[in-house]
Amino acid sequence: MVRDYVNGILSSDKFILSKTITLVESTLPKDIKLAQEVLDKVLPHTGNSLRIGITGAPGVGKSTFIEALGNWVTKQKLKLAVLTVDPSSQYSKGSILGDKTRMGKLSHNALAYIRPSAAGSVLGGVGQKTRESILLCEAAGYEVIFVETVGVGQSETVVHDMVDFFLLLLLPGAGDELQGIKKGILEMADLLAINKAEGENESNALKTKHDFEQAFRLFQKAESNWQPLIVTCSALTEMGIADIWDYIQQYKSLTQLNGYFNRRRQQQNLSWLHELVRYNLEKSFYQNATVAQALPAIEQEVLQGRQAAISAARQLIEISEPFKRNDPTR
Ligand code: GDP
Repeated sequence: MVRDYVNGILSSDKFILSKTITLVESTLPKDIKLAQEVLDKVLPHTGNSLRIGITGAPGVGKSTFIEALGNWVTKQKLKLAVLTVDPSSQYSKGSILGDKTRMGKLSHNALAYIRPSAAGSVLGGVGQKTRESILLCEAAGYEVIFVETVGVGQSETVVHDMVDFFLLLLLPGAGDELQGIKKGILEMADLLAINKAEGENESNALKTKHDFEQAFRLFQKAESNWQPLIVTCSALTEMGIADIWDYIQQYKSLTQLNGYFNRRRQQQNLSWLHELVRYNLEKSFYQNATVAQALPAIEQEVLQGRQAAISAARQLIEISEPFKRNDPTR
């Protein structure tokens, strides 16, 4: 069983890859165990891709841009996988990013693999699954991986933590506040692309570029030695798309040469480890039978102001058996 999955992935079988990602996304204990075994086996074949995060507000042109850049990437005979982190899916069954009509051309491209986002998981969980999906795509031989997310909040940070290069799409004619972009997100970007810059939008786009350049003077990426770039492009006419790919290549060469590329991946792995520990500890804590039983009453005590949150938390931790057993202070 494990061998079938592993062989399928290593021979770049899209159907098996999809099946394995579904396995990785499952919350059933038997699936989690199987997925873990498959991941362990393919791990030596991972890490060889360029991971690119792409974000921007709804309507900025992300899927059109991914089609354009994606087709360019595959024209270079590179295999491309597109994954998404969809923050909408934690609240509803619907999703901002997941509809099937997106990226029609790319989805028929033999060198491209597009995986719609998983719905119905918590954000931390989705990030975690996307990381595992990246590894599976790498083992299946994908050389470039786009991780797309809609720029509406927390998900950008999650994506930034799992990619090598972070690209932010903007619209001509509005400052960062008007575009709903938080300063922190702007600071994370390695490249800002002002999209829809064709035709009569061109001069407006150039003015926006100039405005952002002023703001960007303040940001320095001392660690990577990379000066973030601001460019204009049109996903619709493909103007500027090939240049953006060149810039990404330049970033890769620079950071591979100065060692930042690998250091960043090591750091990302380390923070992934700690995230997983936190996530799993918290999960097993709340699944603990004694905790689950006592929780509603203790929550009420805190809600009614009869008990302080801090003593309630201590009480819960004290009654949870596995944590009690391992408490070094006892
Ligand atoms: P997303 O919500 O960010 O994925 O945005 P979409 O890719 O779905 O694009 C939203 C709308 O903007 C669609 O109607 C696209 O055709 C249009 N669009 C995307 N890129 C461009 C562009 O470069 N120029 C123009 N004029 N329209 C674009």
